[in-house]
Amino acid sequence: MPNCGCFLSAVVIICLAITIFFRLRDMAKKKNYLIDMDGVLVTGRSLIPGADAFIERLRTCGLKFLILTNNPIYTPRDLAFRLQNAGLQVESENIFTAALATARFIHSQKPNAKVYAIGESGLTQALHEVGCVLTDIQPDYVVLGEVNHYNFEQITAAIRLIADGALFIATNPDATGPNEAGIVPATGSLAALIEKATGKSPFFIGKPNPLMMRSALNYLGVHSEDTVMIGDRMDTDIVAGVMSGLETILVLTGVMSRDDIKNFPYRPTRIVQSVADLQIDCLEEESQPPV
Ligand SMILES: [Mg+2]
Repeated sequence: MPNCGCFLSAVVIICLAITIFFRLRDMAKKKNYLIDMDGVLVTGRSLIPGADAFIERLRTCGLKFLILTNNPIYTPRDLAFRLQNAGLQVESENIFTAALATARFIHSQKPNAKVYAIGESGLTQALHEVGCVLTDIQPDYVVLGEVNHYNFEQITAAIRLIADGALFIATNPDATGPNEAGIVPATGSLAALIEKATGKSPFFIGKPNPLMMRSALNYLGVHSEDTVMIGDRMDTDIVAGVMSGLETILVLTGVMSRDDIKNFPYRPTRIVQSVADLQIDCLEEESQPPV
C-alpha cells in the first residue's frame, strides 16, 4: 500500500508540473492586446498617467493592439485625433468602435443591406464603408447608435419601420455615458424607449456581447488564445473577455474598485492598479500568477 501512495503522489506531482508548464507557456504566448479606451487609457480628455508609455512599449515590441470603445458617435479618425491630443501616439487603424462591429455584423448577415440609421458620423460612415444603403424606404434594419441631439421624428420613424418589419439592431447597450457635466442618456436608454413602443428587443452588438470581441479579433487578425483584454469594467470588458476565451486584466483607474469584484460570478485573470503597472517584455510577457 505505501508503494501505491507514492505512485499516486508522483502522478499528482507530474500532473501539476504539466499544468504549470502549459499555463506558463500560454501566458508567455499572449502577444496581442484589446484595450478598452475610457477608464483605461483616458478619463474624458485626460490621459491616465503611464498610458502613453504603455502604448509605446507595445509599439516598441511590435505587439498588435486595438483600442476598443462602445461609443459609436465618433469615427476612428476622430478618436485617434482625440487620443493624440491627449498624448497617445495611436492611428485610426488602432481603434475599433461598436459602430464598426455593427457595420461588419450587418454586412456578414446581409451584404448591401438597406438601413435606417439613427446615429452620428461614426455609425453612418461605418455603414457606408461596408456597402449599406441608408434609407427610410423599406429598410432591412433599423440601426440605433448614440446621437448628440435626439430627434422625435427620427425616433417615430424608427418605431414605425420596426413595426412594419425592419429588424432592430443597436450598437451598444450602455444606458448612460459621461460628458463633462455628468451622465447623459446613451444608446441603451433610447433603445428601451423604442423597445417599449414596438415590443421588439434590439440585438446589441457592443460589449459585453462577445460578438464585439470576435469582430475585433478578426479585424486585428489574431486568435483569442493569444490575446489579452484590458478593461476597467467587470460587467462589460471583463465578462466579454471571459466569454470570448481571452486572458483578462482589470485596471482600477476607471469605474470599479477591488471591492466590486466580489459581486460578480467571474474574475479577471489579473488585477492591476493601472496599465502603467503592466510589465511588457519584448520577447515574452512577464508571467504573473492569476489573482
Ligand atoms: Mg471603460
